[in-house]
Amino acid sequence: MKVKNVWATEILDSRGNPTVRATVTLSDGTIGSASVPSGASTGRHEVLELRDGDKKRYGGKGVLKAVSHVNTTIARAIKGIDNQRALDDRMCALDGTGNKKRLGANAILAVSLAFAHAQARARNIPLYAWIREISGMPYKNYTLPMPMMNIENGGAHAGWILDFQEFMIVPQQKLFRERVRCGAEIFHTYGTLLKKHGYSTLVGDEGGYAIAFKKNEDAFKAIMRAIAQTPYTAGKDVMLAMDPATSEFYDPKKREYTLSVEKRKLSSEQMIALWKSWMKKYPIISIEDGLAEDDWDGWKKMTAAMGNEMLLVGDDFFVTNPKRLKRGIDRKAANAILIKLNQIGSLSETLDCIALARAHGYAVVVSHRSAETADTTIADLAVAVNAEYIKAGSLSRSERVEKYNRLMDIERELQKR
Ligand code: PGA
Ligand code: ZN
Repeated sequence: MKVKNVWATEILDSRGNPTVRATVTLSDGTIGSASVPSGASTGRHEVLELRDGDKKRYGGKGVLKAVSHVNTTIARAIKGIDNQRALDDRMCALDGTGNKKRLGANAILAVSLAFAHAQARARNIPLYAWIREISGMPYKNYTLPMPMMNIENGGAHAGWILDFQEFMIVPQQKLFRERVRCGAEIFHTYGTLLKKHGYSTLVGDEGGYAIAFKKNEDAFKAIMRAIAQTPYTAGKDVMLAMDPATSEFYDPKKREYTLSVEKRKLSSEQMIALWKSWMKKYPIISIEDGLAEDDWDGWKKMTAAMGNEMLLVGDDFFVTNPKRLKRGIDRKAANAILIKLNQIGSLSETLDCIALARAHGYAVVVSHRSAETADTTIADLAVAVNAEYIKAGSLSRSERVEKYNRLMDIERELQKR
């Protein structure tokens, strides 16, 4: 089915800032839509999210330029294209900059994903089945990912009340819907416990509580206390994970990590020692961006020290970029990759990156961004590539739980087959 037309509009994301939604119409009249998310603690090496910069509109955050690129340049260039790779290659060539700064990664990704939605619908198959087909992955069955659920928010997502950005729980039940139930029950128990101790239960950007504890570690202590009040056992029914997003507080010149909440500065080696000490105390299975995006020596040391026992996930470190991932593989840095479509800016390039990770035994964690929309494409992507994990935020706020809801739907659909 060929592209007949494409149309984009400016919509709002979950932080109330503009983002791009695109709708592709195919030659048989089928339409598909997709909306792109947006990060706050973005990696330095991500492709460019094009913003208007006109301070009179949305404080400069408007995306009318990106929208107009879809409606003019891109629309003209992609008419008649009938496959995903050709579409994505065409848009990358049209942009011609390597980091998508001319057309905007937000423009290109919206079209790339809308096209995939339309193609799946034209064939009357689920999006995950269509992405599986174009990915060329050899798997026969589908597996549902383990969810990493961010129930305590800090860093750039919660006014820096804590230095570390995300404290997550990872339910281990067999069925996805039981993992969701476990996550939600712990989330609510945690909320009740916080209230009992006089804390506010307002939530951060990703729907997790945002408590100004005295020390970063207190977040895990409180979460462990909450789990103990549920029927679930920490270390068996539910594990812990974290994303300290350390690039946000690293000074590359001084090679120093500043923990403002605790008023102390740490070297890479001291950060690694900190993670190792936490690993002994808590059932943590995964640390994302445990060191900063350009601290390559540190990452090598951390992987040698902890890579056998722990998932070490590169987010800002790899930015879903096959080139950076290749460098990591060569240097034995990290053993897992966070996959964010808008870090690289098209579905084909994202699938290339996942294929490279798979070929070298790196685990795959498909992820949302801190500003999301109702779009649930990442749920289908995770199932399409049999991702081991999905990170989609807390158990509150529609833009987060819709991803979990979609995965529960997919599970039911697969069980019927
Ligand atoms: P971001 O945060 O979407 O604000 O970049 C998410 C993450 O760091 O994983
Ligand atoms: Zn991250």
